[in-house]
Amino acid sequence: MTIQMVDILGVPFSSMTMEETLSYITKQLHDRETVFHIVTANPEIVMCARKDPGFEKVLKQADLITPDGIGVVKASGLLGQPIKERVAGFDMMNQWLAQLSEAGKPVSVYLLGAKPHVVEGAARTIASYPGVTVAGYHHGYFKKEEEAAIVEQIQKAQPDILLVALGFPRQEEFIQAYKHELRAKVAVGVGGSFDVWAGEVKRAPKWIQSIHLEWFYRLCSNPSRWRRQLVLAEFLKEVLRERKTVKS
Ligand code: UDP
Repeated sequence: MTIQMVDILGVPFSSMTMEETLSYITKQLHDRETVFHIVTANPEIVMCARKDPGFEKVLKQADLITPDGIGVVKASGLLGQPIKERVAGFDMMNQWLAQLSEAGKPVSVYLLGAKPHVVEGAARTIASYPGVTVAGYHHGYFKKEEEAAIVEQIQKAQPDILLVALGFPRQEEFIQAYKHELRAKVAVGVGGSFDVWAGEVKRAPKWIQSIHLEWFYRLCSNPSRWRRQLVLAEFLKEVLRERKTVKS
């Protein structure tokens, strides 16, 4: 199956819907030489790739980039190649695990990242899906010299799905750096998802998500993120500049 792609400021996004994405990634759950790397990218990630050629290379080597963030969906419309819907990492993982569980397809998951009590809480939530087992977990506050031992732990666990919550760009760089060694089938960078699974952070209510203001809810519940949100304005400026170039 060839995936339809939409280029947004140099980042090749998949334009599959959530349903199409789930069926596509389920097909990737087979033994492979290198892990199937999924990036769920928002405007911050796009802007990070524009400023950091090393990270841009990491993104281009990923196997699938989904539009996480309404900013990406809106940008695709402005650029004349509308993406149908947002495929947020947290929603994708919940729906995927529920689907695999309902289909009676047993899967194992390894969780890497977040604070020790958070990863433990997230592992408990993940393990509550019938048929889903947790092959292991490790917190995300480790030194470079501890990395080899963590990779070895993941190798031994041989999970079907590896969830990495170290924040970007570190989670994507980690997966890319070890994609030949991890022995997982699919690996996904999931940002702050463990905090939500562990009940430390609340996701915006559905009605706020539906009016596309989740970013604003996150800003209000954690005002220290305002600096990070400034990048959204920069993203919009770049998209509008690109649109002018495309039109002329
Ligand atoms: N994190 C980590 N190690 C670090 C820095 C961060 O494991 O050295 C974790 C952090 O505890 C959080 C996740 O990475 O669980 C990233 O959260 P953030 O809210 O930044 O994610 P995003 O906004 O990218 O979804």
